[in-house]
Amino acid sequence: MTFFTNGALMLTPEERARLVARGITIIDTPVVEVVGAGRSVEALRLSDNAIFPLDGLFISPTTRLATPFAEQLGCAIEAGPLGPVISTDSFKATTVPGLYAAGDAARAMHNISLAVADGVIAGAMMHRSLVF
Ligand SMILES: Cc1cc2nc3c(=O)[nH]c(=O)nc-3n(C[C@H](O)[C@H](O)[C@H](O)COP(=O)(O)OP(=O)(O)OC[C@H]3O[C@@H](n4cnc5c(N)ncnc54)[C@H](O)[C@@H]3O)c2cc1C
Repeated sequence: MTFFTNGALMLTPEERARLVARGITIIDTPVVEVVGAGRSVEALRLSDNAIFPLDGLFISPTTRLATPFAEQLGCAIEAGPLGPVISTDSFKATTVPGLYAAGDAARAMHNISLAVADGVIAGAMMHRSLVF
């Protein structure tokens, strides 16, 4: 297993030592291209032009909101660990009264179960606010 920091993640000496102790190679040279025919992932090309073949790739991408709707409607947007998310309270209410947001757009952790649960909460609270 190889860990590419992409020259962007600064590991502490302790973190490096722990990874190396587990047999993980650390490469700090920036990655400039994912190489492969069509949609396949066959190798990484590094900034020094070295080609690094691989069987699989796990990445930690940054995210962005798919549309500007929430911002246009006046919702507060907050910085999540991987990108911006619509600010909501624990009942999925945004900062705009009567407007709820659920799923990836409104939580830092992206997961189907959590997105579905958010939808249930938002739906229940919207229904409640209509009834009461
Ligand atoms: C590669 C990958 C693998 C994943 N693997 C897992 C996994 O194994 N387990 C897990 O729990 N989660 C996984 N996830 C995360 C999971 O897919 C999401 O957390 C979940 O789909 C979020 O649901 P959502 O309804 O919030 O958003 P989405 O599923 O993204 O739905 C948003 C919908 O809105 C539509 N849309 C966007 N803009 C507009 C517009 N302007 N007008 C109309 N429609 C629009 C989009 O087309 C999309 O259909 C994975 C995600 C990815 C990308």
